[in-house]
Amino acid sequence: MPDSPAPTRVLVLNSGSSSLKYQLLDMRDHRRLAQGLVERIGERTSTLSHTSLVGTEPAKREREGRIADHEEALNAVSEELSADGLGTDSPELAAVGHRVVHGGKLFSRPTLVDDAVEREIERLIPVAPLHNPANLTGIRTARSLRPDLPQVAVFDTAFHTTMPESASRYAMDIATADEHRIRRYGAHGTSHAYVSREAAKLLGRAEEDVNVIVLHLGNGASAAAVRGGRCVDTSMGLTPLEGLVMGTRSGDIDPAVVFHLVRNAGMSPEDVDVLLNKKSGLLGLCGDNDMREIIRRTGEGDESARLAFEIYIHRLKKYIGAYTAVLGRVDAVVFTAGVGENAAPVREAAIAGLEEMGLALDGDLNAVRADRARLISPEYARVAVAVVPTDEELEIATQTYALVSGVDDTSSATRADN
Ligand code: AMP
Repeated sequence: MPDSPAPTRVLVLNSGSSSLKYQLLDMRDHRRLAQGLVERIGERTSTLSHTSLVGTEPAKREREGRIADHEEALNAVSEELSADGLGTDSPELAAVGHRVVHGGKLFSRPTLVDDAVEREIERLIPVAPLHNPANLTGIRTARSLRPDLPQVAVFDTAFHTTMPESASRYAMDIATADEHRIRRYGAHGTSHAYVSREAAKLLGRAEEDVNVIVLHLGNGASAAAVRGGRCVDTSMGLTPLEGLVMGTRSGDIDPAVVFHLVRNAGMSPEDVDVLLNKKSGLLGLCGDNDMREIIRRTGEGDESARLAFEIYIHRLKKYIGAYTAVLGRVDAVVFTAGVGENAAPVREAAIAGLEEMGLALDGDLNAVRADRARLISPEYARVAVAVVPTDEELEIATQTYALVSGVDDTSSATRADN
């Protein structure tokens, strides 16, 4: 009997508290074979929206009906995949890659999950109470469905574990900080890793030789200073609340605001948590967290939308300046995620006035809408400005496949065109 070929497919799972996002990729050419989303798990009506990408045209299927828990959700996903001949029982499936939000100080690389790794992810729940429990449920469910299959945890914090202590420590009592694991862990690391590597490719240079500032501007937003492929600073901290102005999060704020609200406004710590995470940022300033709306309203002369935009840009400029100082030499400033990839006015306003720092934009290039990596700075600019679409699922699949197959193909992991 001839040996069967090595499996090349990776299923990427991103489990939220009531959702399960998934993609199936073939790592020979990074082609997406299927993708989908289960929403409202545990509620009365759940939905599963599945898109098969194996035919000539994408084929979308929807189902509605109660899906009680993540186990049922993964079984439903498995059935949908089987209907396309891509089932989780297929021998072509090499591994499952799981997005895990918090890996603490310990996990600096993608990690094969065993019981000890599960326990460590569980131990980190106090620093990631919203995400790690759901990620763990996804891992446990997938392990029970295919116990024989390698399950790999890819941590959102891993890319930031290279930060020096000077950037990752808060200037607070060191014993208290250590006892409660208080330090700056960052987030969006999978995106920052992928985008900084793609930016080096776009510049035609080796990742080790390039210093970049990545601006991941989605509903959540963070900046990273990356020197030679290694993160040296990032704007999110113990939690994703620190740093840039976001859709609903305040970003940087004087911590005394919290004491003030608790002492003087009759708010509980939970109330302040909700205020700063869910009711602040762009939403808190002007009632909208969608940058499209804010740009539209600003165009119509809406004052609160204009103020929200200006505060957002002011914070962004401060981080570009700070990270230029941290890096010493910057080769590129790179925009990514929903706002960064699509909002030309945000890119224009963020770079405006930074000519003395070697930064400039080409207005025509900035106005182009495209979903490929591209430069938007003029040739004469000392620092390149780029837009690089992020692809966290591909990065998770690539890291997962590299671990289980022993083939590190990150240098060729650029996404396929589907
Ligand atoms: P993400 O979290 O990366 O999915 O980004 C989501 C955010 O991207 C949305 O809340 C919008 O504010 C923003 N966004 C998406 N498309 C556009 C666009 N064309 N112009 C401005 N903002 C956009």
